[in-house]
Amino acid sequence: MANPLTPDVLVDPVELTRALVDIESVSRDEKVIADCVEDVLRSAGHLTVERLGNTVMGRTDLGREQRVVLAGHLDTVPINDNWPSTVVDDLIYGCGTSDMKSGVAIALHLAATLPDPAYDVTYLFYEAEEIESEFNGLRLVADSRPEWLRADFAVLLEPTYGAVEAGCQGTVTAVVRTHGRRAHTARAWRGVNAIHAAAEVLRRLEDYHPRTVTIDGCTYREGLNAVRVNGGVAGNVVPDECAVEVNLRFAPDRSEQQAHEHLREVFQGFDLEVVDSAPGALPGLDAVAAREFLTAIGVEPAAKLGWTDVARFAALGIPAMNYGPGDPSLAHAPDEHVEIGRIRDGAATLHRWLAR
Ligand SMILES: [Zn+2]
Repeated sequence: MANPLTPDVLVDPVELTRALVDIESVSRDEKVIADCVEDVLRSAGHLTVERLGNTVMGRTDLGREQRVVLAGHLDTVPINDNWPSTVVDDLIYGCGTSDMKSGVAIALHLAATLPDPAYDVTYLFYEAEEIESEFNGLRLVADSRPEWLRADFAVLLEPTYGAVEAGCQGTVTAVVRTHGRRAHTARAWRGVNAIHAAAEVLRRLEDYHPRTVTIDGCTYREGLNAVRVNGGVAGNVVPDECAVEVNLRFAPDRSEQQAHEHLREVFQGFDLEVVDSAPGALPGLDAVAAREFLTAIGVEPAAKLGWTDVARFAALGIPAMNYGPGDPSLAHAPDEHVEIGRIRDGAATLHRWLAR
């Protein structure tokens, strides 16, 4: 197949968005798109290019004082009657238009057309963001090629509809267990009911006052919720065990460890087991490149409440933000689309920041 990402497509981030969308790349099937992107980066001449699986990295080595990363995932969720792309008025429809080939297009357009940026730039196009994290290209790079990610600041071009989302909240899932003693319900006084004992767990959840925390002007709203309850043996048995699964979303001023400790305090006296957790990420707005980025964008950052790959950079000590042209509420939707004007604005804005 001839590479559809030709020089005249690369100069136009809108055409490039369409071309990228029209290379099918559902998670685990990113070889073709990664080949095309690698080819573009290698022919740029001013980039050092490396590849790991279907993740491709191209970077300038101009000896600038600061290095920034522009990153985007190449994969999409499964196609849903929305491929290849179509254009209706000023909207491009199709799988991946918002999440996040319009963002990838902006980064790839800059990689190909900006040989002399104000910072050294690492462009990272990675695989398998939309599926289990064991396949996540950014995670694989962090594990085996952490030097690719070394930078002062990173921008992920995930859909934010032109807003800047800084940092992200962490998450912990834990199981709180209550114990009792089994007995026949006809002689219930011989037993201890573990489900009744869970009432205190639920009461603590109901009484819980989640914090609202503002860091660097970004407001994070925490939350602690029961998300599942398991218990019961049979219709005539006093149950001896009940498990309440709880999920804490925590602001990034707590470390993962502190979040675990916080849960142990809330459920003091109960048996608590952490089953899954991921750290949050501080907004990191004091990095020079981050401040200059915000000046160029000209919008106040907002907190990211969900967990995103931004946290993978934060774990390496690199402040990172999300900024992309797509509308996040359209991600994964059958009528997924992106506004052409947003793509042009995003490309022009990032160009202004990098070409300064
Ligand atoms: Zn995405």
